[in-house]
Amino acid sequence: MAMQIKRPKGTQDAVPAEISKWKTVEGIVSETAEQFGFREIRTPVFEDTGLYVRSVGDTSDVVTKEMYTVSSKGSDTFTLRPEGTAGVVRAMLENGIMNEGFPQKVYYIIQAFRHEKPQAGRLREFHQFGVEMFGTSSPYADAEIILLAASILDSCGLDKIELHLNSIGCPECRAKYREALKDYFKPHEAELCETCRERLSKNPMRLLDCKSPICKEIAAGAPIILDYLCDDCREHFESLKNILADYGIKFTVDPKIVRGLDYYTRTVFEFISNDIGAQGTVCGGGRYDGLVSELGGQAVAALGFGMGLERLIMTMENSGCEFEAAKTTDLYLASMGDKARHKTALLADAIRRAGYSAEFDLVGRGLKPQMRYADKIGAKFVCVIGDNELETGEAKLKNMRTGEEKQIILEDFMSVFGTELINEVFENGLGDEIAGAISGELGEKEE
Ligand code: ATP
Ligand code: MG
Repeated sequence: MAMQIKRPKGTQDAVPAEISKWKTVEGIVSETAEQFGFREIRTPVFEDTGLYVRSVGDTSDVVTKEMYTVSSKGSDTFTLRPEGTAGVVRAMLENGIMNEGFPQKVYYIIQAFRHEKPQAGRLREFHQFGVEMFGTSSPYADAEIILLAASILDSCGLDKIELHLNSIGCPECRAKYREALKDYFKPHEAELCETCRERLSKNPMRLLDCKSPICKEIAAGAPIILDYLCDDCREHFESLKNILADYGIKFTVDPKIVRGLDYYTRTVFEFISNDIGAQGTVCGGGRYDGLVSELGGQAVAALGFGMGLERLIMTMENSGCEFEAAKTTDLYLASMGDKARHKTALLADAIRRAGYSAEFDLVGRGLKPQMRYADKIGAKFVCVIGDNELETGEAKLKNMRTGEEKQIILEDFMSVFGTELINEVFENGLGDEIAGAISGELGEKEE
């Protein structure tokens, strides 16, 4: 036998048995986003490398260490998207959506790629739900996306996730703060990790985001940005805090939240879970008023967040949250013999047309393995058809949940199935009208 190839390090498979977890969170995030008036956008998985260098920033970890960059034939290089915002801004500009009136509100569910050291909650391919809003500087907009994230976490059944909030000001207040940080860290330069020594001159705020314990310890005494905010930035932050308080959203002002990406201005926030270990940031976001013009558009205020879906699911699992039940087949049609099997194939077709799920034996097995299969797929309902049933024109329909059986006339199968038993078993009332339509269709087919 040939050797099996394994999946790449830092990637995961979502197998059928686990898929309902994904459907649950995907359903919650998209429905909640739509309630807030966000519309879905889909952009390519790979983009021009320059897009990320310009938007994410050429001193960021994402750009310096984590990008998956591929070159195709010719000289262009492309990068698998490490995050969602840059591609969305590019698409909004390229498709002229920024001219269609403000605010523009979009959401997406994407996979993202970063070459990081794989560990629990940190993958090389991961999934993100994200939203972006364009064209408003109002603190109500900042509050709106935070409220959206909080509503999602609430709908997931998570109530112990903490919101950490900060303002990192505008380029003007940040310039002064940067100098203060440099002055603070300079005497500690030799103790800092290698990356942070580099950050010190280029982007000292990144030092506050470092995960190395020594850097963290040194950073604990660093000056905080909130002491350097200009009047406008301070007022914006105060308003946001008041609005959140009125919504009843609890938060901690956390000057250590600076976000890793260059384009953030003013509001930054993270939702942090203490349930999933070191990689506890389930959602991170903020305002990035400088990004759209950086990418060649007019100056347009913008904000958004990204929510890691693997981390969201992990937190839900650890908190005992409920996921949607996996969908199971409504009816399994077992058969004995070729003629009966052909009949089950036609019946399955009619039942699916009525909007229910049905399966019949595709392998050509005996009754016992068929029944085992029906059990395994969790069929709600089983009907066995053999020579005898074909001859008498009657068969038994079994409710797998209660064990109850009913004798039905095959000629009338669909109408009986439709009116009486479906209503009883599926508890969702299939009307006579549909049942009639189905038996008509089946009749036509058998001619
Ligand atoms: P972290 O500080 O954990 O590295 P980040 O600041 O790099 O996160 P963002 O770029 O803001 O993360 O991405 C938004 C969200 O995506 C994060 O809050 C997290 O939930 C998730 N995320 C980021 N990187 C990964 C990864 N490598 N694997 C799984 N989820 C991730
Ligand atoms: Mg990161």
